[in-house]
Formats: sequence, structure tokens, C-alpha cells
Amino acid sequence: MSNPVRPRPRQYRELSISRMLLLLARGITLRCPHCGKGFLLRTWFRLKPNCGNCGMRTDRGEEDFFLGGMMWNIVFAEGLLVASALLVGIATWPDVPWTLLKWGSIALMVIAPFLFYPFSLCFWLACDIWIRPVTPEEMDWHRASKEGEFRKHRDR
Ligand SMILES: [Zn+2]
Repeated sequence: MSNPVRPRPRQYRELSISRMLLLLARGITLRCPHCGKGFLLRTWFRLKPNCGNCGMRTDRGEEDFFLGGMMWNIVFAEGLLVASALLVGIATWPDVPWTLLKWGSIALMVIAPFLFYPFSLCFWLACDIWIRPVTPEEMDWHRASKEGEFRKHRDR
């Protein structure tokens, strides 16, 4: 009896780990996760409204879209704090420079969120595109919509 290999449905291929890594690589290099070509940074604290190549809106037409990016910004900054404190603690044990660690951590918590901000936004955009792939209908809306115009949340 033959066991033909059935192709996986489209939605499962889109959720593959290789596609996730591709999208995240595009995102953390500040390129459009959807097409991989458009550079998304307008200023350090603001993304362009649309990808210059494919026209995808960087907010996906959702007013609260970047809350996820802000969440990742906190995760990255605090993750860096924990990792660096552990590294310093382990490397200098038992003579841990507690004063340096305290003031360094405070300085890190002030600086890191500013450094990570655009990367966090694009990382979130990549995560969102991985979980909710962009449909052709959505792309039509992205290209036709204007900055400041938002979609209704039909997919939630
Ligand atoms: Zn694009």
C-alpha cells in the first residue's frame, strides 16, 4: 500500500520555523518582514507608515498594533539586564562589584529601551506576520488606505 506524501496545507507551511526565522531576521534588520526589501525606519523612534517596496502598512491598519512592540521592548531590555547581571555576578564571584552592578543596571534600564525600540517594533511586526500571515485582501487594503486610517478588528 502506498503512502502518498500529502502537501501540508498552506497555513501550516506559513507557521514553519524556517519562515519564522526568515521573518525575524528581516524584522531585526529593520526591513519589511513581508517582502524583505523595504527599510522601515523613518526616524529612530518612528517607522515609515508603509513599506516602500510592497506597500504593507507597518501598523497593519490597527490603532493599537505597536503595543506588542512595546512589550517586546520591555522583554529585551529586562532580558539584557538579567543576562548582564548574571554574567557580571558569575564572572566576579565572590567579589561581586555590587555598587557598579546597581548603578550599571540603572543606566542600562534607562538606555536599553531607547536602543531596542525600533528593533522591538519590527520584531513584533515579524512575529505578527508569522502568526497572522498577510493576505492578498489585506494587502489591497494596505495599499488603498491612508495614514491614520484603521481597520476594524475582524480577525479577533
Ligand atoms: Zn515590504
